[in-house]
Amino acid sequence: MKALVVGSGGREHTLAWSLLRSPKITEVVCVPGNGGTATLPHCRNLALAPTDFEGIARFALVNNLELVVVGPEQPLAEGITDYLQEQGIKVFGPCRAGAQIEASKAWAKALMVEAGIPTAKAEVFEAEAAALAYLEQQGAPIVVKADGLAAGKGVTVAHTLEEATQAVKDAFSGKFGAAGHQVVIEEFMTGQEASVLAITDGQTIRPLVPAQDHKAIGEGDTGPNTGGMGAYAPTPVVTSAIMERVQKEVLEPAIATLRRRGIDYRGILYAGLMITPEGEPKVVEFNCRLGDPETQAVLPLLETPLEQVMLACIEGQLDTLELQWKSEAAACVVVAAEGYPDKYPKGMEIVGFEEAAATGALVFHAGTRRRGNSIVADGGRVLGVTGLGETFEAAIANAYAAIDKICFEGMYYRRDIGYRVKGLS
Ligand code: AMP
Repeated sequence: MKALVVGSGGREHTLAWSLLRSPKITEVVCVPGNGGTATLPHCRNLALAPTDFEGIARFALVNNLELVVVGPEQPLAEGITDYLQEQGIKVFGPCRAGAQIEASKAWAKALMVEAGIPTAKAEVFEAEAAALAYLEQQGAPIVVKADGLAAGKGVTVAHTLEEATQAVKDAFSGKFGAAGHQVVIEEFMTGQEASVLAITDGQTIRPLVPAQDHKAIGEGDTGPNTGGMGAYAPTPVVTSAIMERVQKEVLEPAIATLRRRGIDYRGILYAGLMITPEGEPKVVEFNCRLGDPETQAVLPLLETPLEQVMLACIEGQLDTLELQWKSEAAACVVVAAEGYPDKYPKGMEIVGFEEAAATGALVFHAGTRRRGNSIVADGGRVLGVTGLGETFEAAIANAYAAIDKICFEGMYYRRDIGYRVKGLS
């Protein structure tokens, strides 16, 4: 069976690698892929844009691809699933209507309110003056969010009224394009963040092992936010009691409300949570796809063949399948280019892949590309190195032992990934 993975990041390299662990999968094509998917055995890249639905459909039909897996949110929000399904292609990822849960924060908030899902109190604004008046009334700290997809840059956690005012002005002056035409202003929540990603066929919901990531660039979770500098799973912060609450109070009402709205949501439903100091899980955001780098920590722990899970989801038969997990811990450390998340150079040659792989860790590529016989850096987040182990200490140590073998000019990584869970497994 041949599969196609849409996307080019660490998440997509991990998806391709996970699919290829199944003896049923003979080949994976990545659109457009990266240096890792170009060099993974039985995997190759196809130079099409993730939003070239027509090109992807034509390729899938001509080559008899039996499964298309969509990594990023943009093509989902633009309706890749609807388009390919109309042509009889099996696609893993929600339809355009379902992807609104990530593509519009105002839409998602309204859904949460309708479903009675615990979340921060919020108001939606379509004009600057009303938004600024609301800020004055609420005071800081407060959170300002551009409504639409803004590549992770549309959220400002404002600690002062000045910051919040600036964020509102930026959004309405077009800083995030159409994504900022509406602004959601919400209550600031405190607690520990965690991610519960679940797979659903619109009826059955199977949560994956819970994960946590480190968003800030600097050690001790300081400095500007990034796409994610590391992740680990299964995080003990999400206890089985909290997991049960997430299932009952978040995932089930979300899917039931989507169904009531006529949306047959199949794929990943990702709940970004704040675990409040009282131990209550509140939703920060929903995503319609796997997280990056959470995927690099979660999928290596999955024992059930991934294609089997995805096909059961597409066919509405998830109730027939229990997910099996390794009883180990996993930690992924992201290696970035110097300067990320601001300006960073590209094109530096990366060496040490074989030596790193020999340690037993998994080296997933993110922003890399093949240049002749070499692999060079081609993005801000360059690699995600995942270690497994019986404890978090062991998993984390394994990831760092592999990174020690890798070298490129200006490579940067946090040395404290997983500090919150050390000693807890
Ligand atoms: P989002 O894209 O909505 O997940 O927001 C990005 C990040 O901003 C989250 O991961 C949190 O760290 C932070 N954030 C978002 N909403 C809130 C909130 N209501 N209270 C505190 N922090 C928040």
